[in-house]
Amino acid sequence: GTFASLGLCAELSHACKAAGYAAPTPIQVESIPSLLGGQDLLGLAPTGSGKTAAFALPLLQRLVAGRQHAPRRVRVLVLVPTRELAAQVGEVFRRLGTFFTRPPKVAVLHGGVSVNPQMMGLRGGADIVVATPGRLLDLLDRNALRLDAVEALVLDEADRLLDLGFAAERERVLAALPARRQSVLFSATFPPDVQELADSLLHDAVRVEA
Ligand code: AMP
Repeated sequence: GTFASLGLCAELSHACKAAGYAAPTPIQVESIPSLLGGQDLLGLAPTGSGKTAAFALPLLQRLVAGRQHAPRRVRVLVLVPTRELAAQVGEVFRRLGTFFTRPPKVAVLHGGVSVNPQMMGLRGGADIVVATPGRLLDLLDRNALRLDAVEALVLDEADRLLDLGFAAERERVLAALPARRQSVLFSATFPPDVQELADSLLHDAVRVEA
């Protein structure tokens, strides 16, 4: 298969080629059409499966196809467990979005560094936020961003998010988001706490496995 045959636009197919992706991975083949259609999705996929592009590509396409706002509003929120993963996922969104006429602006928010540059970076707004939950809540408390225009939420490595305390942060994060949205959950393992999170978050979700 090709990226275009999954329904992706020329700008994204081109970005895949530029990134060195010759053909979609199995998890991408399974996930991309459903996510382009706006469905919720539960993905059982480890690192190395191509899971990041599996959600980044369709969410970028929906973002760019949708209504643009001035100033920019956060329309895609990706929660990740660690600083390193935040940087990696943010970079994938940036790289895959480069061929659009107006490339989406990506903000990466995580702890372990000073909050001030992140606050400055949010001044002009952002289309996509990739964040660890603790720093996201800190910035929400400081009124540095709003999440009331979010159209898609992704929990990446949900098992590790829960291991690192997301159960306690979950209600405060979800309270800041619109109830009506697309939700996506990826996890490498599927213990009962991940099942419970998926049950509460997802509606009529497609289930895919790498
Ligand atoms: P991930 O599972 O998202 O951590 O991705 C693992 C690695 O696979 C990353 O280095 C990606 O750049 C790479 N990758 C993602 N999709 C593809 C693809 N379709 N073809 C080749 N490499 C890919």
